[in-house]
Amino acid sequence: MKRFSAEDIQNILNNLEEKYPNAHCELNYSSPFELLVATILSAQCTDKRVNEVTSELFKKYNKPQDFAIMPQEKLEGLIRSCGFYRNKATNIIACSNSIINDFGGIVPNTMEDLVKLAGVGRKTANVVLSEAFKIPAIAVDTHVMRVSNRIGFIKSDDPHKVEEKLRKIIPRDKWSRAHHLFIFLGRYTCHSRKPDCENCKIQSYCEAWKKKCF
Ligand code: SF4
Repeated sequence: MKRFSAEDIQNILNNLEEKYPNAHCELNYSSPFELLVATILSAQCTDKRVNEVTSELFKKYNKPQDFAIMPQEKLEGLIRSCGFYRNKATNIIACSNSIINDFGGIVPNTMEDLVKLAGVGRKTANVVLSEAFKIPAIAVDTHVMRVSNRIGFIKSDDPHKVEEKLRKIIPRDKWSRAHHLFIFLGRYTCHSRKPDCENCKIQSYCEAWKKKCF
């Protein structure tokens, strides 16, 4: 597998920055708890749909106390269009109770504590750490996974391994920015079925492009 020098990584990030200067978290939120709920809802769902749902939901309910006492069926109805609504409702209610009972009603700000919450894995925890608490983190979602494999940073379908590799080769102060840039690359150019390589700014660094292996 190709080794990427520090200069390669910097050039890749610079080129992506040129192409996606506006790369950012596309979920709307106004507190760490809202971001946590929105991220749980975003599994297997588009950010656009989550924002449609939360724009109504958060008007009335946006604290752990609101969800902890909410009947499951009621929450299911409110989040139904996000898909997997039974699991998501169960997790949001359990997560809210855990935040109240174990963390004094405040969303914790460490990986160790975040992953103790129901429905919160490393990906969600990294989104919350990076976005809500501005702690450098790389969340590996389907886009980050795909582009990391195509570019040739790693060959693995294990999100934790991909995260570890990216943390090794990217300077810590660039982790959160790299996360957004890779998501935008995957979402808007390096599509899963038909990547738009002609319009990609990092062709010259990409193993998949060189091998034409899609
Ligand atoms: S060159 Fe093609 S495969 Fe490689 S990152 Fe760009 S869009 Fe994806």
